[in-house]
Amino acid sequence: GVGVGGNLSLAQNLNLNRWNGRPYSQRYFDILEKRKTLPVWQQKDEFLQALNANQSLILVGETGSGKTTQIPQFVLEAIKLDDKGKKMMVACTQPRRVAAMSVSHRVAEEMDVTIGEEVGYSIRFEDKSSARTILKYLTDGMLLREAMTDPLLEQYKVIILDEAHERTLATDVLFGLLKEVLRNRPDLKLVVMSATLEAEKFQAYFSGAPLMKVPGRLFPVEIFYTQDPERDYLEAAIRTVVQIHMCEPPGDILVFLTGEEEIEDACKKIAKEVTNMGDQVGPIKAVPLYSTLPPAMQQKIFEPAPPPVKEGGPLGRKIVVSTNIAETSLTIDGIVYVIDPGFAKQKVYNPRVRVESLLVSPISRASAHQRSGRAGRTQPGKCFRLYTEKSFKNDLQPQTYPEILRSNLANTVLTLKKLGIDDLVHFDFMDPPAPETLMRALEVLNYLGALDDEGNLTKMGEIMSEFPLDPQMSKMLVVSPGFNCSNEILSISAMLSGKILLLSSTSLIPKFVTVLGCIGCVLCPVRLSSAIALSGFHATVWCVPQNLLIPNCFVRPREAQKAADEAKAQFGHIDGDHLTLLNVYHAYKQNNEDPSWCYENFVNQRAMKNADNVRQQLLRIMSRYNLKLCSTDFSSREYYVNIRKAMLAGYFMQVAHLERTGHYLTVKDNQVVHLHPSNCLDHKPEWVIYNEYVLTSRNFIRTVTDVRGEWLVDIAPHYYDLENFPQCEAKRVLEKLYKKREKDREDKKNRK
Ligand code: ADP
Ligand code: MG
Repeated sequence: GVGVGGNLSLAQNLNLNRWNGRPYSQRYFDILEKRKTLPVWQQKDEFLQALNANQSLILVGETGSGKTTQIPQFVLEAIKLDDKGKKMMVACTQPRRVAAMSVSHRVAEEMDVTIGEEVGYSIRFEDKSSARTILKYLTDGMLLREAMTDPLLEQYKVIILDEAHERTLATDVLFGLLKEVLRNRPDLKLVVMSATLEAEKFQAYFSGAPLMKVPGRLFPVEIFYTQDPERDYLEAAIRTVVQIHMCEPPGDILVFLTGEEEIEDACKKIAKEVTNMGDQVGPIKAVPLYSTLPPAMQQKIFEPAPPPVKEGGPLGRKIVVSTNIAETSLTIDGIVYVIDPGFAKQKVYNPRVRVESLLVSPISRASAHQRSGRAGRTQPGKCFRLYTEKSFKNDLQPQTYPEILRSNLANTVLTLKKLGIDDLVHFDFMDPPAPETLMRALEVLNYLGALDDEGNLTKMGEIMSEFPLDPQMSKMLVVSPGFNCSNEILSISAMLSGKILLLSSTSLIPKFVTVLGCIGCVLCPVRLSSAIALSGFHATVWCVPQNLLIPNCFVRPREAQKAADEAKAQFGHIDGDHLTLLNVYHAYKQNNEDPSWCYENFVNQRAMKNADNVRQQLLRIMSRYNLKLCSTDFSSREYYVNIRKAMLAGYFMQVAHLERTGHYLTVKDNQVVHLHPSNCLDHKPEWVIYNEYVLTSRNFIRTVTDVRGEWLVDIAPHYYDLENFPQCEAKRVLEKLYKKREKDREDKKNRK
C-alpha cells in the first residue's frame, strides 16, 4: 500500500485514492457530488486560508452544514501530517459516543477507506483505530484520557473540538487544557466548532481567535404551540405523530423524547396505531435513536422512508424517535416535521448531599430553537411544541447550564491532578464550577487516599487515575489484591460498568414516578430545576431513575415476567446485589458464553459480552501496574467476606444504616433512603453499601450489599472518625463498636 503522504503524487496522477492507493469506487464519486452541495464547501478556501494563518479558529454553522463530516477532510487535504518522519493525526472530538461512531463510519465511506484503518474512532472501552489512522473521531472524554499519558497531545497536528456549544464537562476541561498546550506547541492547531450562538463567548475565551460563520441553508419553519399544558407528553407526542401522518403532506417526522425506554415504547405504540388505521394511510417506519443503541440499529435512521404499499397508494413516512442526539450531533436529511415535548434528561448534582442524578427537566429556549431547526433542512417545515407559547417565553431558560455546573467533579479533579494542574482555583475554566463542588471533590479524593492532605496526587491517586471509572470503583480495584479477591472485584466492576441496555422496553424499575412540587430547589445548586416547579408545564416533575444508565443483565419480557423472575432468583445471593452480579458472570463463563443458555436464563447476552470486554480492558490496566490477580479459595468462608470488604474499601462513603424506625439513613449526609425493590437480599442488613442513589418520589439506593459495622471502623477509620460525625443513631452504634474494639484489645493484652 501507499503510506501516508508516501507516493502521493503518483497516486494522484493515477487517480488513485491518496490514502490507501486503491482505485476509487463509484460510490465515492456519487457521495462527492452530494458533499459539494453542503454549505461549508462554499467556504472551503476561506477556511483553509484562516487555518493556515492562525493557530486557533472558531467555526460556527447551522447543524447539517457539513462541519463534522467535511472540515476534518479539508484539514487532511491541506495539512502535512508528516513531521520529521513522525506521523501525526487529526482529531475530532464528539460529546456523544453515538456521534463518534456514526460520523466516523460516514467519513470513512466518503473517503473510500475502511473504518478502523485511515479513519477510526475511539470511545470508552472501544478503540477502532490503527497505526494507519490519520483521522480519528473520539469522545471528548477519550481525548482527555489521552492527554494524561501524552500531555502535549503530540500525536496530533490539528485538534478539532466539535459540538463545543454542548459544553460537556470534558469539553470544558479540554478548553482550558488546550489553551495551555497551544502555548507550548506552536505547531499545533485548534479548531473549535459550534452550532449555536455563544460564538462571542468562545472568541473572548480563546483570546480573539478569528470567527468564521457558515451561513445555514435553513428553510422557514412554522411553529405551533399547544393551547393548554399537556398532562402526558408521551401520549401527546404519539397523538401528534398520528395526526401528522393522517393530515400532512409527505415528509419525515422527528420526535424528541428523553430516554431509551420511553423511545422504544413510543416506536411500538406509533407502529401499532398506524397499522390499525389500515391502508388509507401510507406505511411508516418508526426508528429509535439513543446512545446505547447498537451501531447497526443506529444506521437505520439514515434509511429512506418505506415505499407505498401498492403503486400509486399513499406515501410512506420515516419517523425518528430520538433523544437529544438528533438536536445537533447527528443530522438526518428529509425531516419536515419536528415534535418537541420540551423535555430532556439532564444531569443535576447537589454537593451538599453528594447526589448526582439524571432528571427529566424542561429544555432551554436555545435547545427549542435547535430542535425546530431540524424541520427546515431540506424544505419548509413545521415544528409542534407540546407546550404553551407562554411557557416557552416565561418558563424556559435562555441557555442550558454547562455540565460542569451540574456535575460531581471527583473524577474530573483526579484527571486534572494527573494532568499536573494543581491550582484548580485558578484553572482557566470558561465557567468556573461552584467552590463547594470543587471542595467536595477534593474531600472525596482525600478520603480515598488519592490526594494527600496538601491536595497532591499520591501514588494511589496516580494508579486510580488510570482507570476510566469513578474514583470509588478505581480504589476498590486497586486495593482488591490486598483482600485476595481481585479476580472477583474485576468481574463485579465490569458488570457495573458496561452501559448496555435491553432493547425490549422492559425494566425492573417502577414506571416513571410523578412528583408533586419541586424537589429541584433542594437538590440543584444552580437552581436548574427550580424552573420546573414554576413552569407552566404543570407543577409536576418526572424523575427518571438512573436505570437508563445502569447495566441490566437481566431480561424481563412482559409476557414471561414470572419465568424471568424465577431465572433471576437462581443467581440471587442473599448478601447482596453485587454478589448476584458476580454469580451471573460466573454462570455465563461456566456455560461457555452460550447464547442459548443466556436465552433460557433470561440473561442479556449483549450486556454479558460487553461486561467481558470491559473486564479485559480493566485487566490490562491492572497488569500494567502489577496489581496481582488472585482469588480466595471458593470453599473458604472468607470468599465472599473478602469481596465485601474490598468493595467497602472503595465505597465506604456510600453506606446506609438501618434505623430502628425501619428505614435507612445515608451515613453522614443523613438522607432517608429505601432499598430499591430490585434488590435480592432476604433480610434488611444493619449496614449496606450501595452503588447508586436513585432519585424519585422516594429516594432509593440501588445495587446494595450487606456489610458489617466492624469493617467500617477497621477499613475506613479516617471516614468513620466520630469527632467528625453528625449526631445520629449510626454514630451511637459506631461508638459502641469502637469501645468494643478497644475492650477486645485490652483483653488481648491482659491475656498475654
Ligand atoms: P454538521 O456537523 O454541520 O451538523 P454534518 O457534517 O454532520 O453537519 O452533516 C452534513 C451532511 O452529511 C448531512 O446533512 C447529511 O446529509 C450527511 N450525513 C452525515 N452523516 C451521514 C450518514 N451516516 N449517512 C448519510 N448521510 C450522512
Ligand atoms: Mg456536527
